[in-house]
Amino acid sequence: MSYTKTKMRYASLLTRSRDLHLEYYAFEYWENDKCELKHLLDYVPSREIIVNYTKTCQGKEELSISDLDKRMNNWDVNNKETVAVFYGRYKDEFDKILSFEEFKKFYGEDEKDRECDYCRIKESEIETLRKKGEIKTKRLYTRGLKMEIDRKNPFGNYSVENIALCCYWCNNAKTDEFNAEEFKLIAKLIKVVWDNRLTK
Ligand SMILES: [Zn+2]
Repeated sequence: MSYTKTKMRYASLLTRSRDLHLEYYAFEYWENDKCELKHLLDYVPSREIIVNYTKTCQGKEELSISDLDKRMNNWDVNNKETVAVFYGRYKDEFDKILSFEEFKKFYGEDEKDRECDYCRIKESEIETLRKKGEIKTKRLYTRGLKMEIDRKNPFGNYSVENIALCCYWCNNAKTDEFNAEEFKLIAKLIKVVWDNRLTK
């Protein structure tokens, strides 16, 4: 059994979770000149901060995206040393959110034929469709062949309760708009299309 790809996938979730943690923190405390490491490590963003930050990134708030970028960059520069230490320490924090053992159980070994939680397509079926010329996206070199990790509740973290295996197409369509239950309805029709292509 090999877990090299599983480890890489876990590492990418850790990075994403760490970056989000920093973004929410900097968004909430941008007025504080220097952040304290402990405060940063213990920080848990409120739902309100997550929603406000998301809206600001979408350009729906008074603060423009370029001002937000400036603010975040300033914060990064001011807190460079603390952020560097935080980078090293976040591994332990992420372990409390999602341990590698939990993730290994969820994601399986490298060779596992994973299936999308929403439209139920399997990686082996995507490969079959690719060989048949029934996959249209040009992104296939970078995404598509393997299942991705979706957050069921897009405003939650990568805890084992909140992650789902998700194909590239469902992930792209679900965005941070639909929660898992809502998207399952949409994915029923995506499944019809896959089944049609598979039996062509
Ligand atoms: Zn899917």
